[in-house]
Amino acid sequence: MELRDTPEQARFREEVRSWLRANLPEGRGTPAHPEPDAAEERVAFAKAWQRKLYDGGWAGLDWPIEAGGRGASVTESVIFHEEYARARAPDVILLSVGIHLVGPTLVAHGTRAQKERHLARILAGEELWCQGFSEPGAGSDLASLRTRGELRGHEIVVTGQKIWTSFAQHADWCLLVVRTDPEAARHAGLSMLLVDMRSPGISIQPLREMTGEAWFNQVFFDEVGVPRENLVGELHGGWDVVITTLSFERGSSAQHARLESELELLVDLARRTPRGDGVAADDPLVRQKLAQFETELMILRMSAYRSAAALERTGIPGPEGSTLKLAWSELDQRMKDAAVEILGPAGLVPRGNAAAVDDGHWCHELLWSRAATIYAGTSEVQRNIIARRVLGMPR
Ligand SMILES: Cc1cc2nc3c(=O)[nH]c(=O)nc-3n(C[C@H](O)[C@H](O)[C@H](O)COP(=O)(O)OP(=O)(O)OC[C@H]3O[C@@H](n4cnc5c(N)ncnc54)[C@H](O)[C@@H]3O)c2cc1C
Repeated sequence: MELRDTPEQARFREEVRSWLRANLPEGRGTPAHPEPDAAEERVAFAKAWQRKLYDGGWAGLDWPIEAGGRGASVTESVIFHEEYARARAPDVILLSVGIHLVGPTLVAHGTRAQKERHLARILAGEELWCQGFSEPGAGSDLASLRTRGELRGHEIVVTGQKIWTSFAQHADWCLLVVRTDPEAARHAGLSMLLVDMRSPGISIQPLREMTGEAWFNQVFFDEVGVPRENLVGELHGGWDVVITTLSFERGSSAQHARLESELELLVDLARRTPRGDGVAADDPLVRQKLAQFETELMILRMSAYRSAAALERTGIPGPEGSTLKLAWSELDQRMKDAAVEILGPAGLVPRGNAAAVDDGHWCHELLWSRAATIYAGTSEVQRNIIARRVLGMPR
């Protein structure tokens, strides 16, 4: 892979930069100006920003043109994410399940009617989605899930419980995996459904996270009727669809860009935090740590480029996405640990307190970064995948 931009890619990069310069919401989405506090306001903000990206032609950049995307190459997509992170553009995490998981899954497995019904709405930020995979007894071992889907006439009737369902309380739709054949072998009896979250029989209980926010939820299904046409892929063939969704969830190749932008903030923090007669950045141990992060980020960037080049050749995110996920999530945590080490106890004061530094940004990030080694497959699970599917080690 060529590491410098070709003239065409440089033009594309400049196009992204100038659009962001002209359209970024005033002060929003940056650590100094966090997104709104109230959940409803954040939903409205995310939808409005996504609409702007859509109107500007930046939504679904790497989706195929016939699916409403721009058909950009993997490299162009990486360039977009690099510039997006450099500009500290808003994080539309609330819409990420639809854009990064459900959309690509429907492109791969959806019926024509499902694509027509949902894809454009997802890209325009009109539909908010959640992912109903995990259950109290099924996380890493997802195939042991027990939520039932019973075939009754033209409906599949769902009963059971999901947990850790991010954004369910705001979601319009859920990508839900259920067991439709309890007699079949574990992986063989599952089916994937598109469920309207306003269907009768669904109840949602938000769970408060240690950051103080309540983004994920328990979701209970009590005889919820789902039309048969909302089945994605084959009946009892849901595991194939699950694998597609998970490969998109783990294959994200631009986390290096987000962390590079955060390292700039960390260096700035070290330069302005008083330590003795000077600042924290004078301390050789702090400097060494920052240099270590910079080195690891360069390695992460090169690995992301290598993975992007492979994806461009094959069209399918491979198991090596697990190495990237493992590397960025653990580096993310060490960077947030370092920020709080630089700040000392003040780094642990949460937002809303007079003593909080940068309005509690570092405290929030320290706590939130713990989730990164759990969601989209824990670090232990990623190591298993690397051992078996990348390195070919025996079980
Ligand atoms: C912030 C956040 C958002 C989330 N959002 C969603 C969502 O929207 N939808 C959704 O469906 N789920 C969501 N999840 C759930 C997430 O997918 C699960 O937490 C994850 O898959 C782990 O499952 P578990 O919590 O049941 O832990 P378990 O699978 O019970 O694991 C417990 C511990 O055992 C280890 N372990 C398990 N199996 C093995 C093994 N084979 N080898 C070695 N170690 C092992 C794990 O690494 C972990 O340390 C979210 C999680 C978080 C933290």
